[in-house]
Amino acid sequence: MVESPPNRLNAFTIDVEDYWNIFHRDWLGQNIPPTDAVVRNTQWFLQILDEFNTKATFFILGEVAESFPDLVRTIAQAGHEIGVHGYHHRQIFKLTRDDFHREVAKAKKLLEDITGNSIHGHRAPAFSINQETQWALEVLAEEGFIYDSSVFPIAGKRYGWPEFSPDIQILDLPNNQSIIEAPLSIVRMFGKAFPAGGGGYIRHFPYFVTRQALRSINKQRPAIVYCHPYEIDITPKSYTYSKLSLKSRCKAMRFHYVQLRNRRSVKDKMRRLLQTFFFTTLYKIICKETGQ
Ligand SMILES: [Zn+2]
Repeated sequence: MVESPPNRLNAFTIDVEDYWNIFHRDWLGQNIPPTDAVVRNTQWFLQILDEFNTKATFFILGEVAESFPDLVRTIAQAGHEIGVHGYHHRQIFKLTRDDFHREVAKAKKLLEDITGNSIHGHRAPAFSINQETQWALEVLAEEGFIYDSSVFPIAGKRYGWPEFSPDIQILDLPNNQSIIEAPLSIVRMFGKAFPAGGGGYIRHFPYFVTRQALRSINKQRPAIVYCHPYEIDITPKSYTYSKLSLKSRCKAMRFHYVQLRNRRSVKDKMRRLLQTFFFTTLYKIICKETGQ
């Protein structure tokens, strides 16, 4: 049955990073450049967005842009928005203010040089802007970013800023500058806020859960959906875990087994989302919501 689309415009965002690049660094302590899996998987998203005549925002990791500048050009030439997703995917609480300044400046310049366009938006790796790291918003404003979309207004284990309002809002910062924050989408149940419309939440739950969550969000505000190119990738990898201990190897294999199993339904879910809801770039949503 074809579902009739509601009228609300939402933002479709993709954090462009390579799974194997990050897995090798975080699990094995090895630095390998991003693999071409990120190109292949991103191309699937470009294709399906084109099929549904939809524009999206691609927050791109500096390392990916450095290895695959043509991918960045292809995304920009297709009319999508490009934003920054850090350079080496380091969470902000692991960086000093100066380190963060250097990383975002380098990533922004690289993406602007490749595309020839100004970059307006930023998404922190692993949504790592919270109450403790809110100084990062000042750095972003100083670097000329118009908006950030990194705050999850939840009390999460790994991330979250529970007191933050879920609305898109202009923030006046201690350095006398301002920035727009577009928090990630949440739903409230039993008096508690839960993340919705992205990554693992789309992967783990059946499609109707995401659909209901978006419908509920749309009663009040646009939804901000996020995903990663690797979430559709079910290709078995030939990487060995020879450098890992037996215990870590088993843990990694179990982790990958669950990951691959959960990814099988993602392509279909993405297709249904694009069929049911209207999406555009996050920058367009922000301009509409803040009257800029
Ligand atoms: Zn990321």
